[in-house]
Amino acid sequence: MYTEFSVDLSTPLTYVKGVGPARAAMLETKALLTVEDLLAYVPFRYEDRSNTKTIAQLAPGEMATVVAEVSSARLAGFRRRNLGLFEASFRDSSHAVLRAKWFHGEYLAKTLEPGKRVALFGKVEFDSYTGELAMLHPEFELLTDDDEDAEAALHVGRVVPVYEAISKVNTRALRTIIHRVLSQIAPIQDHLPTSIRDRLKLMDRGTAIRQMHFPPPESDLRLLNAFRSPAQFRLIFEEFFWLECGLLVRRGKAREQLGIAFELNDRVRERIKTMLPFKPTAAQKRVLAEIARDMSAPRPMHRLLQGDVGSGKTIVAAEAAIIAIENGYQVAMLAPTEILAAQHYLYLKPLLSKLGYVVALLTGSFSDREKSKLKKLLSEGLVHVAAGTHALLEKDVEFRNLGLAVIDEQHRFGVMQRLGLAHKGMHPDVLVMTATPIPRTLALTVYGELDVSIIDELPPGRKPIKTRHVTADRAEAVYSFLKKQIDEGRQAYVVYPVIEESETQAMKAAEKMHAHLSREVFPDVSVGLLHGRLPAREKEAAMEDFKRGRIQILVSTTVIEVGVDVPNATVMVIEQAERFGLAQLHQLRGRVGRGADQSHCILMTERMNDAARERIRTLVDTNDGFRIAEMDLKLRGPGEFFGTRQSGLPSLRIANILRDQEILEVARAHAQEFIERPPSPAELHRALEYVHGHWERRYGLVQVG
Ligand code: ADP
Ligand code: MG
Repeated sequence: MYTEFSVDLSTPLTYVKGVGPARAAMLETKALLTVEDLLAYVPFRYEDRSNTKTIAQLAPGEMATVVAEVSSARLAGFRRRNLGLFEASFRDSSHAVLRAKWFHGEYLAKTLEPGKRVALFGKVEFDSYTGELAMLHPEFELLTDDDEDAEAALHVGRVVPVYEAISKVNTRALRTIIHRVLSQIAPIQDHLPTSIRDRLKLMDRGTAIRQMHFPPPESDLRLLNAFRSPAQFRLIFEEFFWLECGLLVRRGKAREQLGIAFELNDRVRERIKTMLPFKPTAAQKRVLAEIARDMSAPRPMHRLLQGDVGSGKTIVAAEAAIIAIENGYQVAMLAPTEILAAQHYLYLKPLLSKLGYVVALLTGSFSDREKSKLKKLLSEGLVHVAAGTHALLEKDVEFRNLGLAVIDEQHRFGVMQRLGLAHKGMHPDVLVMTATPIPRTLALTVYGELDVSIIDELPPGRKPIKTRHVTADRAEAVYSFLKKQIDEGRQAYVVYPVIEESETQAMKAAEKMHAHLSREVFPDVSVGLLHGRLPAREKEAAMEDFKRGRIQILVSTTVIEVGVDVPNATVMVIEQAERFGLAQLHQLRGRVGRGADQSHCILMTERMNDAARERIRTLVDTNDGFRIAEMDLKLRGPGEFFGTRQSGLPSLRIANILRDQEILEVARAHAQEFIERPPSPAELHRALEYVHGHWERRYGLVQVG
């Protein structure tokens, strides 16, 4: 019996008929190596070609497919306007003529040569000028003579899948190969637990795979193109389900580690109260309760604290720090940049030294003498809170008893660094802070083993920042607006773009602008300068001066992107705003609007492309970090947005984390229930085995926990 199936999921594509070495090599560029890989190559859209007619049968206004031969073709007219109009005439067995036109169709001249047989798909128009039927920009596929009748029927007369071509393997070839594989493949095993399949009425895996590639007659084209046909739903669900199972197992493992059970008694509560300079918001109280619950449990905390810029995450970190310190432990506060580390230091020091705690700063630019002095204090336990950059993670930095690590802006921190840190103490509690608000389920998935707390409320009395876009030629008007604000006692930032590879250039631009502003535009105003190349001491001094109001305008590169906290600063001018990313602009804007006065953000641009225009428009339209993150995600795509390698974001094949968020939520809920209350131990065992074998390797889930 088994001989009738010539392939199974693990068959290498090189063994599949129709895939020679050349094609196999091309498919490999998209990581398609086995039959299973190929079957996971999803059509990106579908076309209803069931309405197949002869040319003579066509009626104006309908969408139709015809199979015909090119009778003539030419590149015509409009040369001057460079439209490259390509025109072709087609003839079929009914001997009627159909014309088709493509603007910018130069590339077609070599493809649609007279004599070629094609399937054309598009809307039939009546050309009143020639009195003939025509299609404008129809989809088409070349048919070859060796297409057997059965296979030719794959491409017309039905709802057909359209694949993105892989190098020279075009959609038609992919369709043919996939169809052939499906006709020869051994029954496809379904690993999804029966209980779940029954409850959600999911079709079995083999059927779903078939129907995803070759939808049955009468399929709803709209559902298909929205990736919500029953077959697509089933496969998307499945991918998320296994991913979530893997993540839940990993989180479960992380929770089995031994951690510190901090005591949270009245004395600790009293100390926290004494420290607080203001009343926490309801959201801050809620997240502190979540953090405190984690900290008092005998397992290491792995928690992500998410809150829009300015929502007051740092004070929550300070509260958590007090819990650790009062229990006799030390706290590390990690930041991605020196400026941010210094800022934490400046923010926490007065708050915590009020309680008699020692706060220190350690960054890479400290002299060896300073460093070794600090390291000694740390190892002797004489420093309670160490703020710092990755310098804190160096091998020779030893804490006497690290109990809590707070990592700010996880975005810019590799998982590796986080792990390095976990090896330092026994298993310290870890609190990761990020200002990129994404939906909870997404966060739980993207940040893997982290639990998520969200501050969804800004401190009271904040006025929404007014954001404007101006072109660079209106700099004068911007400066006079700046002057007015400064005359009223406010302060301002003027920011220059830093592009990774040209920090020096940005520094020069900032220096030049600093000279220009301080000498020519604002001779009576104190203008400061801050950039990454300044020695740590000078950076700190510049920030301190700005904070104390000794500097009114701070000219800066993006080093101030995160963390700077000066409530009296009400104007943020961003030059060449078109060069910044959306999240970065939102972060920068978040430096103002921290006090009671109305704040302004002015985005100045020079040359914009469409994407930049979209970013600027989004910023002008909304202050909502959630909407901005969503737009950012859309504009950049999940991979780049999350920095896949850093965050451990899985590479999904069928599911799309953005498009399929609501399926992700359903899958997560079912995975959770399945793991917590499996229908039988055997079924759980089977499922975990599958996760282990198939998924951990692919998603790299084994590396952590
Ligand atoms: P972020 O979440 O961006 O790190 P910060 O922690 O820098 O925000 O807080 C922004 C500003 O709001 C700081 O000046 C902080 O002291 C202040 N702040 C935070 N929480 C409150 C609150 N509950 N009431 C008043 N001001 C607050
Ligand atoms: Mg912050």
